[in-house]
Amino acid sequence: MIVMKFGGTSVGDAAAMSRTISIVREKLRSKPVVVVSACAGVTNQLHQLVDLTEAGERDSCEEIITKLKDRHKDIVDGLALSVAVKRPTPDTSGIYATIEKFCNSLWTLCKAHLGGQIPDADKAYMLSMGEYMSSNILCFMMNALGLKTALADARHFMITSANYMSAMPNVPEVVKRATNIIDKAFKNADVVVTQGFMGVTMEGDPTILGRGSSDYTASLLGMVLDADRIEIWTDVDGICTADPNLVENTRGIGKISYEEAAELARFGAKVLHPLSIEPAASKNIPLYVLNSMNPSAEGTVVLASSCIFDGVKSISYNENIRVINIYSPKMINTSGFMAKIFTIFEKQGVSVDMISTSEASVSVTVDASVAIDPLVKELSRLGNIRVDRDKSQVSIIGKNIIGVKGAVAAVFDAVSDSKIYMMSQGSSFLNLSIVVDRPEMVNVIRKLHKVFFENGN
Ligand code: ADP
Ligand code: ASP
Ligand code: MG
Repeated sequence: MIVMKFGGTSVGDAAAMSRTISIVREKLRSKPVVVVSACAGVTNQLHQLVDLTEAGERDSCEEIITKLKDRHKDIVDGLALSVAVKRPTPDTSGIYATIEKFCNSLWTLCKAHLGGQIPDADKAYMLSMGEYMSSNILCFMMNALGLKTALADARHFMITSANYMSAMPNVPEVVKRATNIIDKAFKNADVVVTQGFMGVTMEGDPTILGRGSSDYTASLLGMVLDADRIEIWTDVDGICTADPNLVENTRGIGKISYEEAAELARFGAKVLHPLSIEPAASKNIPLYVLNSMNPSAEGTVVLASSCIFDGVKSISYNENIRVINIYSPKMINTSGFMAKIFTIFEKQGVSVDMISTSEASVSVTVDASVAIDPLVKELSRLGNIRVDRDKSQVSIIGKNIIGVKGAVAAVFDAVSDSKIYMMSQGSSFLNLSIVVDRPEMVNVIRKLHKVFFENGN
């Protein structure tokens, strides 16, 4: 068995879905379990719909739902046209009715909560409509093209915790259910399609696993099903030396270790969800990152560290962060001060990315999307607090980079014109991160890319 995950751009329109179907067709002998995301941009629109519902904007809600309906029907029409070239035109009335049904249930929830707060379980249900629609369309079209395909509803096996918007899978429960459900689905089919991103509590309430989490669904399913490989199909030629949408002359990395890939994802590289590596690594399942727009490109394989050489592999970034600096002379020669600081972060539910300390100060970075006012208020009981806004984190990632001769010097050289607010070296020797002014970020990444990957390196 293999697990193949297709991201938003790989199912974004009829042409992309067609390419995806051709890619799956090539793998029929491997028993593919296909995990899909919502069509590109749809989850963002659903988030907008949630906000507009709470703001009581009835007309705008109706407008978004109409757009979603039209977009999905257009994909069906485009695919039906391409099917009709070789086969009888498929009857699309059933899939049209399915799209109508999902959009009607969105409208029912909008009306029920207009101008009020939507309960989290209903929010999770609304946000997962994108995956429901894309998976139903893909399954319908695969059958229309002669691929015997079954749909397995992820909410029948992806049991999660009850923190609805960023739920954590209950792995033993997923193991109990997924194998049976997927095996049963394969009894009458050659391909099984399911949805990424969504889950359900033990009590049956809808949840989601957080933004970009379809990668995580795929890796977890791969682990649970003992897959031979996990393939993450996206819109770039694998994991690259930097984000190809930001830097020219990037190149695909042929292979990278689980640890390096996880560090890259944690430090901002959007190409993989940060939690998507561990399940594959736990069973040593090779995880491939491939381009559905260019399926013949080699892509990247993520493997055990013993197969990977030392050195810088890629540059990642987090564009909008804040640095919280805590100064306190009380810190000098006292024990337990750090514990006090991090207890406050824990209590406020704010997670910290980078940390750097000196004798009388601690600096940490947090994502700019996190509300920090209550945190800052509580921290100020411990000392003076300064928050630096509009900053970016840039990280170079690679196995044992600190041990690579000249790497640290090369970083300093490349950024000598920029003001560095903070610097930290991950304890794993996998990462060296700096914080710069946000307008400087792209420039810094490009300079670092030149130094590490373009001068014949
Ligand atoms: P999908 O919708 O397929 O899940 P994402 O948009 O989540 O795709 O992830 C793919 C994107 O990740 C690429 O288009 C690219 O802009 C971005 N990215 C960031 N860093 C890297 C990197 N080091 N290598 C490849 N892509 C990267
Ligand atoms: N559709 C979801 C999102 O946009 C999940 C995913 O694409 O991985 O966040
Ligand atoms: Mg993604």
